[in-house]
Amino acid sequence: MLILHAKAVVSCDLSSDHNALAIEGAKIAACGEFDTLRRRFPQAEIVDVSDCVIVPGLVNAHSHLELSDLQGRAPFEGDFVKWVSGVTQGRRELKTNLSDTIAVACRKSLASGVTCVGDICFRHRAWRHLALQPIRKTCYAEVFGITSDLESPRTYLERCIAETREDELLRLGLSPHAPYSAGPGLYEVTARLATQHKLPVVTHLAETDAEIEFLTKGSGGWMDYLQRIHAWDGSFEIPGKRPVAYFLSLNLSDQSFLLAHVNYINDEELGALAKTNHSVVFCPRSHRFFGHRPHRFREMLTAGINVSLGTDSLASNSSLSILDEMRFLHRQFGDLAPETILEMATVNGAKAIGWSDKIGIIEKGKEADLTAILLENSKRDPLTDVLKSEEQPKLTIVRGQIVYP
Ligand SMILES: [Zn+2]
Repeated sequence: MLILHAKAVVSCDLSSDHNALAIEGAKIAACGEFDTLRRRFPQAEIVDVSDCVIVPGLVNAHSHLELSDLQGRAPFEGDFVKWVSGVTQGRRELKTNLSDTIAVACRKSLASGVTCVGDICFRHRAWRHLALQPIRKTCYAEVFGITSDLESPRTYLERCIAETREDELLRLGLSPHAPYSAGPGLYEVTARLATQHKLPVVTHLAETDAEIEFLTKGSGGWMDYLQRIHAWDGSFEIPGKRPVAYFLSLNLSDQSFLLAHVNYINDEELGALAKTNHSVVFCPRSHRFFGHRPHRFREMLTAGINVSLGTDSLASNSSLSILDEMRFLHRQFGDLAPETILEMATVNGAKAIGWSDKIGIIEKGKEADLTAILLENSKRDPLTDVLKSEEQPKLTIVRGQIVYP
């Protein structure tokens, strides 16, 4: 048994002041006052992090770790479709080894306090490498197909489900890529398979103006792109609806989705989305990289939508750190409650990618995924200090094991 002795333990579910936490095996055994826990568990090994605040492990609900080597190599010049073509090209030309890329990305994540990622990988190649890393993950098998052929993508998904070996830290998820690359039939097939196998699902939604143009008018950059790569056979009926309205009109048999980005949503769509169980992942610094209009995450939260945080890939971001996203949000929205930022980074993320049964809050019986972040000014409110400082985690724990440093 371990007792972590911190300056403070902060989690959305904790109302009173605590400064220690006991871990037995993979799980949190108790949270409370240090002297009390030491008396209660006299045999426990003490880990001194009294210069730190402990928070639940941070959840990066949207990443593409396979693209980590494209950092700084995919400049954005105002055309998202062109940027995606550049990234696709860049990924093909990468000479790096995927196993090394994933290992480095996981080490960086753990060092920044991220203990869980929702990762999407083209052709589902990353899960075998992620399985070797001591980080918690949902590995989403991504699927494409906007033609009338539903059989090949369905067979592909079934193969992914059969092949992926889940374990204590790895869960499989499914991902129809986006409304301009996956037809309604494919969304429905994916939702049915996910419900049948109890898997979480993510899709990119309402990311750009080009997506709105494609779905409302059947023109623009995405239509040109699909025709150019011969992915278009004309069977997709242009719905004449905006992305969120279109998505909500699909027959998804009550399967909850995680919706990545949702950068463009009108009042009516926001109201309709709030009546569902779908979650949203907002990627603040990637959002800024592309210069999108201000994101409506605060209105979404107010409406009761579960909004989590993601970094997106290093092709559009400078780090895989959710702590960096939290600090960025705090700088941008000084009046946003620190507790709300922590919720987005922990409990909301856990719910969004299908891990809320195990992690997200600090509570007896939950698995011990935690990070201890150094305090800059111990006189300040600990969570405010975390958001205002540039200090980094001193220690990260996943399932009761110290995984960083
Ligand atoms: Zn993405």
